Amino acid sequence: MKVHDVAIIGAGITGAALARELSRYRLSLLLLEKEAEPAFGVSKSNSGIVHAGTQNPPGSLKARLCAEGNRLISGPLSEELGLDFIRCGQLIAAFGPGDLPRLENIKAEGEAMGVEGLEIVDRAWLDANEPNLSREATAALHCPTAGMISPYRFVHALVENAVGNGVVLRELSPVTAISRGADGVFSLTAGGGNYKARSVVNAAGLYADDIARMAGLPPYPIRPRKGEEYLLDRKREHIANRIIFPLPSGKSKGILVIKTSDGNPMIGPTAHDTADREDLSTTDEGLDEVLEGARRLMPSVNKSDIIAYFAGLRPAAGDDFIVRHEEAVPGFFSAAGIQSPGLTAAPAIALMLKGLLAERGLRLEPKEDFRPLRERTVHLFKVPLPRTRELIEEDPAYGDIVCRCELVSAREVRDAIKRGARTLDGIKFRTRAQAGRCHGGFCTTRLMKIMQEELGLSAAEITKRGPGSEIIKDERK
Ligand SMILES: Cc1cc2nc3c(=O)[nH]c(=O)nc-3n(C[C@H](O)[C@H](O)[C@H](O)COP(=O)(O)OP(=O)(O)OC[C@H]3O[C@@H](n4cnc5c(N)ncnc54)[C@H](O)[C@@H]3O)c2cc1C
Repeated sequence: MKVHDVAIIGAGITGAALARELSRYRLSLLLLEKEAEPAFGVSKSNSGIVHAGTQNPPGSLKARLCAEGNRLISGPLSEELGLDFIRCGQLIAAFGPGDLPRLENIKAEGEAMGVEGLEIVDRAWLDANEPNLSREATAALHCPTAGMISPYRFVHALVENAVGNGVVLRELSPVTAISRGADGVFSLTAGGGNYKARSVVNAAGLYADDIARMAGLPPYPIRPRKGEEYLLDRKREHIANRIIFPLPSGKSKGILVIKTSDGNPMIGPTAHDTADREDLSTTDEGLDEVLEGARRLMPSVNKSDIIAYFAGLRPAAGDDFIVRHEEAVPGFFSAAGIQSPGLTAAPAIALMLKGLLAERGLRLEPKEDFRPLRERTVHLFKVPLPRTRELIEEDPAYGDIVCRCELVSAREVRDAIKRGARTLDGIKFRTRAQAGRCHGGFCTTRLMKIMQEELGLSAAEITKRGPGSEIIKDERK
C-alpha cells in the first residue's frame, strides 16, 4: 500500500490551507473528508470576515496568526487563487467617553501585532462615512485592513488548487480508526478505505477530539460555541460601508452588522456554549438577541429584511488555538480548537504546521511544476452589465438564468460541477443558486436536470448534501 508523506484529516479551511501549502513540495499528500464535499463543516457557517488582527488576547496564537492570515489572504492568496476578498475595513463603535480607553487599548494591542492603519475616528467622521450608524455612537476604531470573503469559495479555491497540484482528496471518508506501527507509519481507516501515512494532521474541527482519541491522545476539551446569523435582503446591501462591531465582550466579538462579499448583509452572531455538536438550529431568543444587538449599531435594521438564517458552531477548546506536534504520538500534529478567527488565520496556521512538520523531518523540496494560479470563477451577480453581454456572446449559457433571485446562469452551474460540486449544497455554496429569497423553490428542479446531465446521475441519486439527503425519495433509477 502506498505510504503518503502526510495525511490531513478534515477539508475545512484549516485542512484546505495546509493541503494547498504543502502541495508546493515533492510530497505525497492525502486529504480525508467525512462529508460529501469540502467546507461542509464549521467553515460553511460563519461570518466570512477577514479580521484585521485586533480583538484577540495579546500574546495568544490567535492574535499572531490572525494578523498574519489577513496579510496572506489580502496579498498572495487573493492574487494567485482569484479569491473574492474585498477590503472594506471595519469599525468598532464606542458609545460614550467611558468606552474610549477600551478602544485605545484595542488599538495599541493591534499595533503591537503589526496591524496597520488603525485610527480612532470621531462623530464627524462617522457622519461622513457611515451615515446609518446609530446617533448614540460617539467614536469608533477604524481598522482599514479588515475585509470579507466567501468562506466556502475560499475553501474550494484552496482545495481545487491543491488537487490540481497532486493532493489526493477523498470525500465521504470519515476516519474511524488510526494506529501507529512499530516503523512509525500510521494506518488510517476511512470510509471503507485503508491508508498509510508517515505524518497525520488532525484538522477535524468539531470532531478533532474524536480523532485525538483514535490516535491514543487525551482528547482536547472541545466545547462548541453556537453562533446564530441572520441574512438580510440584498436591497439592504448599502446599510453599512464597513463591517460594524460593538466593543467585544469577554466571550466574543459581539453582535455585528456584517457586509458580505456576495452583497447580502448579515447580522449576528450570538455566542452560547452548547454540548451538542450537531445542533445547528436557530431560536427565537437568538433572533431577538441579534436584532437588539444589530439595532443598537444600526437602528434601521428591520426584522422584515431577514431572508435566511443559520447557526454555526465554533470548535472552541479553551481560549486559544491548539497547533502543535503531539510528543506522545510522534508524527501526529494537531490543529484543534480553531474557533474564530480561524477563517482568517488558516493560511498562517498552515505555515506554522508546515514548520512543525519540517522540524520533525518532513523534507520540503519545491516542485518545479507547482502551479500557484487558479482561474477565477465568474459570478454574474458581481459582473457589470457590459461584461455580462460579452460573456453571453462568448457562451449563450451565461444568458440562460437558472436562479433568478441571485442571477446565476446555467454556465456557472456547469462550471461549479466541473470544479467539484457533487450536491445541491455544493452548487449553492459555489454559485449562490438557491441562496436567495425563494430558497431554491424555482431553480432546484432545473439544477437537478443540469446535475443529471453533467454527472450522469438519475434524479433519485441527487442529494442536498450527500447520502441520506436525497431529494426524491420513492423513485428507482
Ligand atoms: C458563527 C461563526 C462565525 C464565525 N465567523 C468568523 C469570521 O468572520 N472570521 C473568521 O476568521 N472566523 C470565523 N469563524 C471561525 C471559523 O469559521 C472557524 O475557525 C473555521 O471555519 C474552522 O475551520 P476548520 O477547518 O478548523 O474546521 P471545519 O471547517 O469544521 O473543518 C473540519 C472538517 O473535518 C471534517 N471531519 C470531521 N471529522 C472527520 C473525520 N472523522 N474524518 C474525516 N473528516 C472529518 C469535517 O467534516 C469538516 O469538514 C466563525 C465561526 C462561527 C461558528
